[in-house]
Amino acid sequence: MPEIISINGEEIKLGENKTLNLNVAKLPTHTSIDLSVDIFRAKKDGPVLLLTGGLHGDETNGIEIIRRMISNKKLQPEVGTVVAIPIVNVYGFIFNQRGVPDGKDINRSFPGAKVGSLARMIAYTLMQSILPVVDCGIDFHTGGASRANYPQVRCSFNQPEAKKLASAFSAPVMMHSNLIKNSFRMAAHKKGKPIIVYEAGETLRFDEMAINEGIKGTMRVMNYLGMKPYQEEKPTTRIVKKSAWIRAKKSGLFNATAALGDVVSAKQELGYISEPFGGRKAKMLSSRDGIIIGLNNNPIVHKGDAIIHLAYN
Ligand SMILES: [Zn+2]
Repeated sequence: MPEIISINGEEIKLGENKTLNLNVAKLPTHTSIDLSVDIFRAKKDGPVLLLTGGLHGDETNGIEIIRRMISNKKLQPEVGTVVAIPIVNVYGFIFNQRGVPDGKDINRSFPGAKVGSLARMIAYTLMQSILPVVDCGIDFHTGGASRANYPQVRCSFNQPEAKKLASAFSAPVMMHSNLIKNSFRMAAHKKGKPIIVYEAGETLRFDEMAINEGIKGTMRVMNYLGMKPYQEEKPTTRIVKKSAWIRAKKSGLFNATAALGDVVSAKQELGYISEPFGGRKAKMLSSRDGIIIGLNNNPIVHKGDAIIHLAYN
C-alpha cells in the first residue's frame, strides 16, 4: 500500500490513526447516518486488513468483537494497517434487524449502485471507498433467526489465499463455502481481495465463546500477515467441506438433547419435537456422522423448519 491511504478524500499517513465518518444517508428525522471507520496505521508499511461487523445489523457478536479489540488496543499493528468498521448496517443495528428499513439484505446487494436501493448504495460505498485500499478481510456474522452457530470460519477452499487466512484464523471449525451471488465476499473476490467469514453465536445475544474465539482468530490472522506477533498456541480446527440442515418432520415444541459443537454419529438422537398439550414426541435423529455447527434455539417449530445444521466431509 502507498505511504498515504486516502479514503473519501481523507488522507491517513503511516503511523497515524483516524476515525472517519462516511455519510450514507439520513433518517426521515433528518438525522445523519454515518459509517464509522477506524483506521490504525503502523509506522512501517505492510498489509491492510479490513474487519467488518454488523453487515447484518442484528448480528451483535461481530460488532462486540471489533469493539473490544479497538477498546483493548489490539488493532494497533506494528506493521501495516487495520481498517475496522464495527457496524456496516447502522440502520439494522438501530432497528434490531438484519436488513435495511425496506427489508433488503446488504450482503445480497453487492457490488451495489451509486443510485439504487439503500442496501445497494451502502454496498457501493464499501466497494468504492474501502475495498480499493485493503488487501484482505474478515467479515463477522452470527446465525440468523434464533439459530446459533458454533464458532466457524468459512471460505472457498478453491481460493488458496482465502484458505490460508482461514487456516491462520484457526476457529474451532473451518468450512468450505461457495461464494454467494451478490455477497460482499464474492464482490471482493472479483477485485482480487480475499475475505473470510467468521460465523459464531446468534443474533442479539452476546456469546462469550463466540466473541473470544473471534478475537483470538483475528490476532492469529494479524500474526500470519506479519502485522503483530501473537503467540498463543493454536487449537485444533475441524475441517469440513459440506453441510446440511436437519429439518423438523412435524410442528410443535423442540427440545435439543445434543449441543452446538457435538460430534455426532448417524441415527444418534439429537432432540425431539413434542405436541404442546402433552401428546406424542417425535425423535430427531442425525442423518449422518458429523459435527453440529448450527442449532435452533426457538422452541416453537413448524414442519420443515431448519433445526440442526450438521457439517461433514
Ligand atoms: Zn450475517
